[in-house]
This record gives sequence, C-alpha cells and structure tokens, in this order.
Amino acid sequence: MRHDVADVVVIGGGATGASIVWQLARRRVGRVVLVEQDAIAGGGTGWSSALVRQHYTHEELARMALHSLQVFERFDEVVGGDAGFRRTGFLVLVKPEDVETLAANVAMHRRVGIEAEILSPDEVADLEPRIARDDVVAAAWEPRSGYADPVGTTAGFVEAARRNGAEFRVGARVERIVAGPAGVEAVETSGGPIATRTVIVAAGYRTRELVAPLGVDLPITPIRHDIAIVGRTPDFGPPHPVISDRINGSYFRPEGPDMTLIGTTAAHEGHEDPEVEQHREPYAEDVETLVLRFSKRFPRQEEATLRKGYTGVYDCSPDLQPLLGPVREVPGLHVGTGFSGHGFKLSPVVGELIAEQIVTGRTELVDLHFFRPHRFAEGQPIQSSRAYSVGTLG
Ligand SMILES: Cc1cc2nc3c(=O)[nH]c(=O)nc-3n(C[C@H](O)[C@H](O)[C@H](O)COP(=O)(O)OP(=O)(O)OC[C@H]3O[C@@H](n4cnc5c(N)ncnc54)[C@H](O)[C@@H]3O)c2cc1C
Repeated sequence: MRHDVADVVVIGGGATGASIVWQLARRRVGRVVLVEQDAIAGGGTGWSSALVRQHYTHEELARMALHSLQVFERFDEVVGGDAGFRRTGFLVLVKPEDVETLAANVAMHRRVGIEAEILSPDEVADLEPRIARDDVVAAAWEPRSGYADPVGTTAGFVEAARRNGAEFRVGARVERIVAGPAGVEAVETSGGPIATRTVIVAAGYRTRELVAPLGVDLPITPIRHDIAIVGRTPDFGPPHPVISDRINGSYFRPEGPDMTLIGTTAAHEGHEDPEVEQHREPYAEDVETLVLRFSKRFPRQEEATLRKGYTGVYDCSPDLQPLLGPVREVPGLHVGTGFSGHGFKLSPVVGELIAEQIVTGRTELVDLHFFRPHRFAEGQPIQSSRAYSVGTLG
C-alpha cells in the first residue's frame, strides 16, 4: 500500500472543494491533494440550477456574491476554462408585506457596490410583459446576474489547480480522518492513508459523518430538491430573465433557447432524505406543483410541456447558511459545508476565503467568524434583520 504525505488534503470534488484546492495550489502551500469518492461534480454540484444572483439579506453574503459574480464574468481570464455564465438579469418578486424589506435589502446591495434597483409594477411589465403581475407590488432587479454551468465551472477550478501542481485522487473514498491530541494526523482512504496536518472537508452533507467520529457535531441534513424542466410554447419568444418568485415559492431559469427550469425558493420545502442520491426520480406531485407555479406566473404557458424532472440534494444547516473555516475542537481541521441550496454561486469566493484563512490565519473580504461551524453549539445561529416572510434569500 502506498504511503502518501501531503501538506493539505481537501475532501470532496464539488464546486467548493475544487475552488479551495485551486486557491491553495496557486498560493504554493506545498503538496495539495483532493480526494473525491465518486466523480468530480457528481454530488450536489452536478445537479445545481447554478443561479448566480447577488440578492442576499446579509451584507457578508452580498459582498461574497458580488465577488463571485466578478469571477464568473471573467472566468476564462481569472480561472481558465468556460463556466458557461449567462447574464440574463435576476428579478425578485415578493409579497406585499415584504416590500419594505426588499427596499432595505436593495439599499444595502447598492451600498456594497451591487447593481440593483427597485422596480414598480409598470417597470416590471416593461421588463417582462409576459408575466402575471396583478399580485406584484414591487420587485428588485439585478441586470448583471444570471446562471452558469456547474460542471464546467468545477472543471475549470480542477484544471487550474492541476496547472498549479495540485493532485487528485478521484474514485478514492475517505473512510476516516485521524486526529491525535495535537490535531489532524492523516486521512485514511480506500486507496491508502495520506499523512497530513491540514484537512478541509467539503463533502456536502456527508461532512457530518466524516467529522462525527472526532467528537464534532455539525447539524447538516440532506434535503431532497425536485426540479422540473418544461418546454415553453413556440409563440413564447426570447427567453425570460431568471425570476425568483417569492410570491408563489419558485424560481424560473431559462434552459437552452426554449425551455425553463423550475425549482422551489424555500430550502426546507423538500423532505429530509439520506437516500436522495440513490433515488433521483422526483415525486410526481412535487413536479406538478412546480409546473403549476410556472403557468401561474406565465399565464399563457398552461400548455408548456414537461420535458424532465430530477432530484438533487441540499446540505441544509439550521440557519440555512454555510459552515466555513476552522473546527475549534480539532486543530488542522477546516470545513466548507452546509450551503443549504445556495453554495454554487459562492464557490469562487469560498475557495478564496478558506485558502486565505489557512495561509494567513485571517480573511479580508468578510470575517469567517460569521460562519464559524460551532455557532450552533453556542446557540448563536445567523439571523437576519432583513429576512423575508417566506423562505429566505440568505
Ligand atoms: C437542485 C439544486 C439546485 C441548486 N441551485 C442552486 C443555485 O441556483 N445557486 C446556487 O448558488 N446553488 C444552488 N444549489 C446549491 C449548490 O449546488 C451547492 O451548494 C454546491 O454545489 C455544493 O457544492 P459542494 O462542493 O459543497 O458539495 P457537493 O457538490 O455535494 O460535493 C461534495 C463531494 O464530496 C464527495 N464526498 C462525500 N463524502 C466523501 C468521502 N467520504 N470521500 C471522498 N469524497 C466524498 C461527494 O462525492 C461529492 O462529490 C443547488 C443545489 C441543488 C441540488
């Protein structure tokens, strides 16, 4: 059996792990190895709707989303490769009781440098005349947002990491993280042990089971999320922007030139399901609900045809925010997990922040303490003073 030594081991080859490994490799931290049990982008990442929006209710996340957007916009130059970013604009529709909150959030977005504005119902009609707007009192609009290709993005990070000397063990499963009184000592994989002092676990909801034997409880649950894709009627015209319809609880994203991808806006609308990755068939009633929400917002789309349905997994934390940074109980152990259905767009900035934290012990853009993994054990989950009445936009 081969005996390996690495300066840093990253567990998980989704968008988060791939971004982290690239950011570490370019900082020349020594020998960096990523271990992925399945395929690169085969977990939550590969099934992601990959919306790239900046609308958040926390300033920290808004700053992070803006930073990530700037990477998506110049991905080939900054990372290399094609992230498939499509700028469609992002329209947020909220219930009347959330209009003041919307205005407060957009004011915060503008303060941190995000291009965003509040639209009146007439302005919404000018922008997207095909939607039903009798229930729309106000909306937020971000012209620079859109969506990307999650597999292309992850592949871009992987190739950039390889060019900077990182190594990949794809098809090797991490069975155990070994730690002693001084901290992390090794990871045991199905391909043999790797001795290391630093491990970053970016293994989605499975992060919980990987750190639990070390006495660390991270409250992350796997939640099913069903997606429906419909073919729009031939008379629809050009694609619509990405729409987050917080009134009906769904988002609508163009898929190719003539289809729309539909998902739910509330992270906890799906069911907890540890078997989710073995059963990707969506529940028929969930798909039907999604399609109905689309035709409710686009009334002339009652004859849109269902093309496809599938299920992906959200790694949900109790406050629906990620757990990022060092795990205080085990020196050398770090996590990037709990993204609760909004981690794809954050992957460029999360990689940067975690690598910066490991190399310098601090971060510039936002303080990672905000996302500390032990905030639940302290009874201090993240709370927003600008949260919406339904679901969240983080
Ligand atoms: C249906 C759906 C829609 C979404 N839409 C959006 C969106 O519009 N915008 C957005 O920003 N986010 C969205 N998300 C969320 C986003 O996709 C995720 O937050 C993000 O992709 C998570 O990436 P990750 O790398 O952290 O985790 P994952 O992609 O889940 O990667 C974890 C990896 O760890 C590996 N692993 C686990 N255990 C082990 C082990 N023991 N040994 C080795 N490897 C292991 C897994 O095989 C997996 O490849 C969506 C997610 C889903 C499912």
